[in-house]
Amino acid sequence: MTSNHELFQRAQPLMPGGVNSPVRAFNSVGGEPFFTQRAEGAYLWDVEGKRYIDYVGSWGPMIAGHNHPHVREAVERAVRDGLSFGTPCAAEVTMAETIQAMVPSMEMLRMVNSGTEATMSAIRLARGATGRGKIVKFEGCYHGHGDSFLVKAGSGALTFGVPTSPGVPKASADLTLTLPYNDPDAARALFAEQGADIAGLIIEPVAGNMNCVPPEAGYLEGLRELCTQHGAVLIFDEVMTGFRVAAGGAQAYYGVTPDLSTFGKVIGGGMPVGAYGGKRELMQQIAPTGPIYQAGTLSGNPVAMAAGLAMLELVREPGFHRALEDKGAMLVNGMQQLADKHGIAFSTHLVGGMFGLFFGPGPVTRFEQVTACDIDAFKRFFHGMLERGVYLAPSAFEAGFMSSAHSDADIEQTLAAADEAMAALHA
Ligand code: PMP
Repeated sequence: MTSNHELFQRAQPLMPGGVNSPVRAFNSVGGEPFFTQRAEGAYLWDVEGKRYIDYVGSWGPMIAGHNHPHVREAVERAVRDGLSFGTPCAAEVTMAETIQAMVPSMEMLRMVNSGTEATMSAIRLARGATGRGKIVKFEGCYHGHGDSFLVKAGSGALTFGVPTSPGVPKASADLTLTLPYNDPDAARALFAEQGADIAGLIIEPVAGNMNCVPPEAGYLEGLRELCTQHGAVLIFDEVMTGFRVAAGGAQAYYGVTPDLSTFGKVIGGGMPVGAYGGKRELMQQIAPTGPIYQAGTLSGNPVAMAAGLAMLELVREPGFHRALEDKGAMLVNGMQQLADKHGIAFSTHLVGGMFGLFFGPGPVTRFEQVTACDIDAFKRFFHGMLERGVYLAPSAFEAGFMSSAHSDADIEQTLAAADEAMAALHA
């Protein structure tokens, strides 16, 4: 039988860190990653046959659980007709109609192949449409690995201590202005000073790449107002929140409408898919109707569209997100009670199907509070949970993801593991 260790030994000389995406490598929590053989419902099984209750969900897409038969069968049907056409296909039209029905601000849209592509395209559009150069982003937010975004970034960039990556040209980084999240005064001051040069502002409407930090009341509304006043394009990066915090994303959850939105993860049902879109007068400026260029050989791929559409059918079911949030509440409230029992400074956040666990006092609303949490306690907790068959994201700076496949029994088992893992923190 192949072992995790043996595979990792083979992988390391071949791929940086032995992986194809950094956070998978466990560098920040220590130890070696496991290699997944198979996934079903709420579970992953590694190549050694060990089962994990999974709260990563392929980093977000698997909101209905792994290998859901409705999605798998849609893919199997699509595959029979061919893998890629390079011409338009019917599923792309149905996908656009479905997204628009769920997220009405998406008056027009373009499918791409990843969240990174979606965000890179959205800021090109903001720049092209406004004729301005500067982009505003938030400290601890992650929008993929485009040059403009790897400035004070979250997720793996933060986890590995390189929030501003070498290799990003200074000329590019200089065009990215950063603001502290949940600080309306700082945003007002920046726009007062540089508003005329700002093409767009991009934000995770619920920050999910510095753990999970929801916007404070009125914060998104204030940013909406600032962008309108200064003629800047407001972009909600809903790659993580889209179809996860509500069927209509964070914009529906908070009732704030951006000019452009970006999607990924859930929208592809596990296949490599992203999308960007929004106001018609902006989207019409994209080639071929307009001069702003963006393209993709495999964009709107028929198999990927079939997977995404099947996934969206599942999440459109009435009550889907309510049930997800109820499960999330059972988990985070249970964790909080256990931490209190063990005398551990701890707090949580929950928004729809995403949650945050912090080894520090709450409520955590600012980036500095996230980085001030006890990262060492998190690492030990992570490994305590992993040993007991529960897989949390291997970084203190990632949100957790609930799926509709997690049963009460799974959550109870997770809490029983947490009770032991927290007790061991004192040892
Ligand atoms: N935006 C957000 C908010 C994300 O969470 C991510 C990925 N975690 C991305 C963009 C980039 O997406 P991808 O990894 O598909 O390129």
